Amino acid sequence: MRQSGSFPKILATLACALVFTGVARADKIVLKNGQKIVASNVVDDGTMIRYETPAGQLALPKSIVDHVERGLSPVTGSPAAAAASLNLEPREPPTAVNASEIDKNAVHDAGVDRNYLARLESEARNGGAPANASAARAYYAASQFEVGKGDLERAVVDARTALTYGPEHAALLMNVAYLYLRQSKFSESLDYLEKAKHVSPRDADVYKLEGWAYTGMNRVDLAVAAWKRALALRPDAEVQAALEKALRDKAEEDSYKENESVHFRLKYSGAAAPELAREVLHELEQHYRDLESELNYSPPDPIGVVLYTQESFADITRAPGWVGALNDGRIRVPVQGLTGVDSELSRVLRHELTHSFIQQKTHGHVPTWIQEGVAQWMEGKRSDQNAAALLQVYDAGQAAPLGKLEGNWMGLQGDMARYAYAWALANVEYIVQTQGMGDIERILDRLAAGSSTEQALRDVLHDDYGDLMQATAEYLRKNYGK
Ligand SMILES: [Zn+2]
Repeated sequence: MRQSGSFPKILATLACALVFTGVARADKIVLKNGQKIVASNVVDDGTMIRYETPAGQLALPKSIVDHVERGLSPVTGSPAAAAASLNLEPREPPTAVNASEIDKNAVHDAGVDRNYLARLESEARNGGAPANASAARAYYAASQFEVGKGDLERAVVDARTALTYGPEHAALLMNVAYLYLRQSKFSESLDYLEKAKHVSPRDADVYKLEGWAYTGMNRVDLAVAAWKRALALRPDAEVQAALEKALRDKAEEDSYKENESVHFRLKYSGAAAPELAREVLHELEQHYRDLESELNYSPPDPIGVVLYTQESFADITRAPGWVGALNDGRIRVPVQGLTGVDSELSRVLRHELTHSFIQQKTHGHVPTWIQEGVAQWMEGKRSDQNAAALLQVYDAGQAAPLGKLEGNWMGLQGDMARYAYAWALANVEYIVQTQGMGDIERILDRLAAGSSTEQALRDVLHDDYGDLMQATAEYLRKNYGK
């Protein structure tokens, strides 16, 4: 998300403050002689590595730099989140006698008429084909309405009920497959896509969704095959772009080794040590157990993890320079030069794994500030170092409204990104420390059910954004002020 308005002014105040205090998570430039330089805003211009320190902007010849360790890590769209915005061909709902009357009666006055649906269902149980078609149509309409509201749980239940009354109907099969995909339930989604394929084998959208489901399951080969099939049936810019990205991944990962544990599928560059891969899996499993109990949730499918060298991470992910590790449905982490899991790598893994949990728990319906705030909290980060700078900005009336930090952060400049991370952590820290992790869990549940973020805060904390920010500032003052 691009920031506008008064943010450059905030930056001017903050740039220094957070560069001074944000050292714990700034970038590190590692020289070939082993020396490390802590810096921010590190930019590689081809021949020179330029960076900022409290002393101003400096530069080093690239030839003496071994690599740059990046300090921050955003979350980007998972396959499930990406599925939400896919263009799919409009599909004919099941035809029925009195179709328009059924649509009108199934959903009216901003709600689903459950009594009407129950009546059609009992008629269908006793009746023949026309009664079945009516029930299928009504539940399909209900399901579409629930998706529009953002309530995926209800939508999928209605979609499956519709399917029981029209089991061979392509639109109904696709609807269930699509909704499971949106919920990150990839294997369920594939079951229904398989059935859809039997009913309409030349439907490009079946293969399009199949590609996304396989991506979610880390089966890049199968995703590539599905998308190629989709393109052979119909040109599609979204599929083309996804295929190109998958082919980049595949080209890189063809030489990678694989390893897996109960909850993870790991791929790693042949250059990395097998012991490192085993240790990473062991560490991830421990974090998984902790997060399961903290967030009261278990992701349904294995989580993909890729360990990269520094160069291939930058090439493959094409992320901005300040990005350390990232999570786009798979946890992608550069591990250049590491032979074992140190405390920093452990924190990075826990941070990224938190993103996977939150993404799946909320079906991707979660603002970035909550994602990044909770991920930093879980990795053990606290606001002590940044409290003074955050308070200075808040007291100057220049705090970034949380509503502006809901979208994607990949477009943020390095210092603005630092500020956004620090402010997100402060707000989440305030909630956890004063109300407990249970409130975070309840907020996530409301988001999963389609609530707006501010509504979820109102329901759980009885606060709007303004109240929360003010309470957070008070919390910082009380706990970290002099
Ligand atoms: Zn993150």
